[in-house]
Amino acid sequence: MSISDNIIKFKKKISSKVKLIAVSKTKSIIEIKEAYDSNHKLFGENKVQEMTEKWKVLPKDIEWHMIGHLQKNKVKYIAPYVSLIHSVDSIRLLNEINKQAKKNNRIINCLIQVNISEEQSKFGLQINNLPDFFNQIIENSYDSIEIIGLMGMASFTENEEKIFNEFTSLKEVFINLKGKFPRFSELSIGMSSDYKIALKQGSTMIRIGSKIFGYRN
Ligand SMILES: *Cc1c(COP(=O)(O)O)cnc(C)c1O
Repeated sequence: MSISDNIIKFKKKISSKVKLIAVSKTKSIIEIKEAYDSNHKLFGENKVQEMTEKWKVLPKDIEWHMIGHLQKNKVKYIAPYVSLIHSVDSIRLLNEINKQAKKNNRIINCLIQVNISEEQSKFGLQINNLPDFFNQIIENSYDSIEIIGLMGMASFTENEEKIFNEFTSLKEVFINLKGKFPRFSELSIGMSSDYKIALKQGSTMIRIGSKIFGYRN
């Protein structure tokens, strides 16, 4: 199956309310162009430099989503164009995004990344720390940031029940916060291996790499 076949297949499978983020990290301009030519406009990358190089040469109506860990000192490179940052996990980072968004005269949409797996290597806030974190966000009343939801990654396991439970815990937090934040609308959960479980748990954005572009080296 070609890249465009894969995208068409995915779009048929998922509800039109769910956004398909084609995760193009490590993939070439030619491969991304093939996806774009099948009328796909949403792409996710996990490295600032790689995403920025691709943004420079590809059509400007592409929406670029930063899905990887973001360092404060690199926010300035993506602030002019990024359409959603999925991986916000600190107030320091939010302060910098707000500052760079203002410089560029933009509002930057952000998701807060929550650590729902037990794996140490994964980034994101612990669920326990979220109430304090959101209180801090309210106090800081950012004028150039919109927090529109949450992102999470489940454990890398074949145990579907474990994945289901991890997504469930995030969904509960999401529903809770929705009451307090009027613009809360996005729940970014689900990758190639677990998107079906994520869709059952109310995912509004799935981030699919290998099932669209093939395996990465
Ligand atoms: C790479 C990546 C994905 C996509 O992974 P696949 O298993 O190839 O679908 C999704 N989310 C994040 C944060 C990633 O880094």
